[in-house]
Amino acid sequence: MVTVPTAVILGWPVRHSRSPMIHRHWLASLGIAGDYVPLPVEPERIDVVLNGFAELGYVGGNITVPHKEAAFRAVKSADDVATALGAVNTLWLDGDRLVGGNTDAAGFLANLDEKAPGWDAAGTAVVLGAGGAARAVVWALRSRGIGRIVVVNRTLDRAEAIARHFGKPVEAAEWNSLPKLLKKAGLLVNTTTLGMAGHPELALDLAPLPEGAVVNDLVYVPLDTGLLAAARKRRLVAVDGLGMLLHQAVPGFERWFGRRPDVTPALRDLVVTDIGQAA
Ligand code: NAP
Repeated sequence: MVTVPTAVILGWPVRHSRSPMIHRHWLASLGIAGDYVPLPVEPERIDVVLNGFAELGYVGGNITVPHKEAAFRAVKSADDVATALGAVNTLWLDGDRLVGGNTDAAGFLANLDEKAPGWDAAGTAVVLGAGGAARAVVWALRSRGIGRIVVVNRTLDRAEAIARHFGKPVEAAEWNSLPKLLKKAGLLVNTTTLGMAGHPELALDLAPLPEGAVVNDLVYVPLDTGLLAAARKRRLVAVDGLGMLLHQAVPGFERWFGRRPDVTPALRDLVVTDIGQAA
């Protein structure tokens, strides 16, 4: 039985999620009587769980892989970002109406604003990958008026689908065009799973990137990826993916528990330690 205001994260699997650690840290540091719990839900059951969400007693929650699209279909209304992406990562209740939003784009922007101020002067941004994370990144870059956004993906069709979906200034390009593209890129973002623990490294020569370029890896396990090490070796601005994870959690917490939490060094250290133990 839920005895204090409790938010939930729905995913499959969900045991590796750092969200409970993040939200419980904020609850404790703000002195709020509440909780945040993981709830594994198999894909076959997600529609039933979401359709009955209001009766479960939770104040809201997060949605992670592979349920973000199902959550978008289940909500009665969605914010602009979730609507543009067709994916919901944050749920709340308006009375007994289930409402959804997507905070990945805001988390991505807040991370770059914090770690690489001025990054949005980049004339051209190159986005590697064309999955769900790439869509959020492209939405975010567009919202900040980046002049040229090039999506590069192993499977070109998927990059082309993103370019069609968002329209100008988004375009798609083949992986082998990267050496030429990077010459003009003020920002390079990796949204592929390459470099993630258990996945192959992202093998990319960063030599063509201009001086001062920002390299952001969305992968955060490990925290220090081969791509970021290569960026630092070239004295470029290297930004890891953990800040995006921390910042995307802020709006949900504020909605459920009524206080806007801060992304502090203490929170970051907590999660870094956990990632270090898992690696
Ligand atoms: P996804 O939808 O499964 O997309 C995976 C992408 O990786 C696709 O573009 C795929 O290309 C590409 N890829 C996979 N294996 C590859 C390979 N061997 N060579 C080249 N490309 C390959 O995943 P997602 O949800 O977008 O997540 C992507 C990454 O972002 C994950 O590492 C995730 O942890 C991270 N992420 C981080 C945050 C954060 O807060 N920091 C938030 C969201 C996601 P194909 O289309 O050719 O298969």
